[in-house]
Amino acid sequence: MTSKVLVSACLLGQPVRYDARSNANTRLMEIQREGRVVPVCPEVAGGLAVPRPAAEIVGGDGNDVLDGNATVQTADGIDVTKAFIDGAHHALRLAQRHGVAAVVLKARSPSCGNHAIYDGSHSGVLTAGEGVTTALLRRHGILVLNEDELDQLP
Ligand code: SF4
Repeated sequence: MTSKVLVSACLLGQPVRYDARSNANTRLMEIQREGRVVPVCPEVAGGLAVPRPAAEIVGGDGNDVLDGNATVQTADGIDVTKAFIDGAHHALRLAQRHGVAAVVLKARSPSCGNHAIYDGSHSGVLTAGEGVTTALLRRHGILVLNEDELDQLP
């Protein structure tokens, strides 16, 4: 595989998570050293700070957010929906500009999750669904994997 891959910046060791930590992944950092990685943190690209209050999707998943039927909120009820949508569009533009073969995003994030997300109760409960960025990328036909699915990279 020689084509480029868009990857969650936190998986590449960048401390951009809400708590200013990372989720460094050795295999993805190897691929980055080969010059094949385009990093992105949708939440930072959308204008959110590091650190920032944790946010969850309330009322659905990323598809519902894109359709205007759900919101993204912090535990204190601050609505950060626009930043999440802006960040998703930034990631889409990057993926399209670089013609990436696939995207690898951090599992369970309200932006990046591809199978499960937290349920909006801010109590650590997961539910089936995908994050806002994953939903937008998939609507444009882009393969979105998580860090445990690297064997599926084309
Ligand atoms: Fe940024 Fe996605 Fe990582 Fe969250 S999971 S820190 S939005 S790259």
